[in-house]
Amino acid sequence: MQLELPLALAPAAAPAGSLRYIQLGGEVVGYRFRRARRRSIGMVIDDEGLRVAAPGHTSIAEVEAFIREKARWVLRKLSEWRAAPRPQVVNWSDGATIALLGVPVTIELVPGRRDISLHDGRLGIGLASRGEPAALRKRAIAWIKERARALFGERLSVYAARLGVPTPALALSSARLQWGQCREDGRVRLNWRLIHLPLHLVDYVVAHELAHLREMNHSARFWAVVGGLYPDYLLARRELRESSHRLPIL
Ligand SMILES: [Zn+2]
Repeated sequence: MQLELPLALAPAAAPAGSLRYIQLGGEVVGYRFRRARRRSIGMVIDDEGLRVAAPGHTSIAEVEAFIREKARWVLRKLSEWRAAPRPQVVNWSDGATIALLGVPVTIELVPGRRDISLHDGRLGIGLASRGEPAALRKRAIAWIKERARALFGERLSVYAARLGVPTPALALSSARLQWGQCREDGRVRLNWRLIHLPLHLVDYVVAHELAHLREMNHSARFWAVVGGLYPDYLLARRELRESSHRLPIL
């Protein structure tokens, strides 16, 4: 049996389709357009904004007429979409910020160095000789995962001692849909993206997964074990649910 804490929102992948613009009322609206095997034009507004799909034979003029017909709906949905909380996409340039343990740290690109270090709210990333952005991002994420592993390991041993069990084996996950998982063989998986959140939320997930070593379910008895380890669990559970909308996309 696998138990998990659901993430409320999975981060968006890169949007598909070509970007086009249309004027609706006084507003210029961008949308992603793609051809699809379908009978009619379809339109959705989701985490990626406005997306339109049309059959191969439809002209752009027809597509635009279709969007204009629904202009009021589009504009209302888009303004709701803009007001909704949205994860920040980190662009890995000098001065960009990223949350680590709930605190924003500023990215500083350091020429002539290869290492990565965290001091006084600055994440110094050495620009290796061939420091193209993709490689830099990859190195930084690997470093962040390493830190996550070390920290989560420490917190697991603190709470395992409190529960009176040996520290379980830890694996990092990058699952899109869960914070943590405790398996019947006693291994605990924690989502490395928890490292963006304040320590008390990391601790809640640790306590939650460890409590599954006693109760492999979400019964009242399970929550009593959680409460014994982490008295403020109700508050943390709510906070965690809200935080999942704000995880940065690295
Ligand atoms: Zn659970």
